[in-house]
Amino acid sequence: MARLLSGKEVSAKVLERVAEEAKLCIAAGITPTLAVIIVGSCPASRVYVNNKKKACAQVGFRSLEYALEEQTSQAALLDLIRQLNEDGGVHGILCQMPLPRHIDEQAVCRAILPQKDVDAFHPENVGKLMLGEPRFLPCTPAGVMELLAHAGISPEGRHMVIVGRSNIVGKPMAMLALQANATVTICHSKTRDLAQITRQADILVAAVGRANFVTAGMVQEGTAVIDVGINRLESGRLCGDVDFAAVAEKAGWITPVPGGVGPMTIAMLMQNTLAAAK
Ligand code: NAP
Repeated sequence: MARLLSGKEVSAKVLERVAEEAKLCIAAGITPTLAVIIVGSCPASRVYVNNKKKACAQVGFRSLEYALEEQTSQAALLDLIRQLNEDGGVHGILCQMPLPRHIDEQAVCRAILPQKDVDAFHPENVGKLMLGEPRFLPCTPAGVMELLAHAGISPEGRHMVIVGRSNIVGKPMAMLALQANATVTICHSKTRDLAQITRQADILVAAVGRANFVTAGMVQEGTAVIDVGINRLESGRLCGDVDFAAVAEKAGWITPVPGGVGPMTIAMLMQNTLAAAK
């Protein structure tokens, strides 16, 4: 039976550390400040934004929310970002994705000043990560690395198989794992014989966005299984990409959903905001 990798527990420790360091910043006259932009009224985005604001309050940061209407033009959004870029009292800026269809997400990522881009989505920050000199660590992959470190699972020399190649999760996950000396395989929807590849993983990261996608037959005995997926079932219940009950019988370690990678992502965002303020 797999041991549980609890993001709830590990993120609480990260947040404690961030709160301690924030006190020093505040004593020096700088209150770390995160500006959060949300466009439209997607319920999932609202939950994420609220969780980020809650985490800010928990570690003593100031958070500013800019809730814009669904019909907001791209020009108006870029204008707001320009103002926040110029505001010396704002250290981190994030725009909750996804954005309404009429807004070009890449243009928004490019508009945020790289020094305030605490999500690490700006091409300059993506490039710096690729070169092995990251300014900010990408939050979700960094959260995965922190979870592994906490469990004493070193990626060095291990085979990490990542299912998913998005710019937010799969690709930066591969970069961080590579920098930690893992041997990395990235799989996607065109990968042939996926199960044959995932069964070779020492560390398996699922970032697909499909409930119960990773079955017990896709996992070898003892693997550390990291479930990045967040899927809402018709019943309203949240679940990951991994068939938790069956895979837990075989895996060495497993993350739950909720309470796994999700809280780690937010903790890493707080860590980046602190770094930006510093
Ligand atoms: P995404 O952009 O939709 O990417 C999904 C990836 O899965 C794509 O690369 C896709 O391949 C691959 N895929 C789809 N079907 C597949 C199949 N049958 N076999 C193999 N690969 C397949 O999603 P994302 O933004 O990376 O997010 C993935 C999941 O993580 C979602 O559930 C999301 O909500 C969740 N998430 C969680 C957190 C967190 O903090 N826990 C953060 C971000 C995202 P192609 O590229 O070939 O289409």
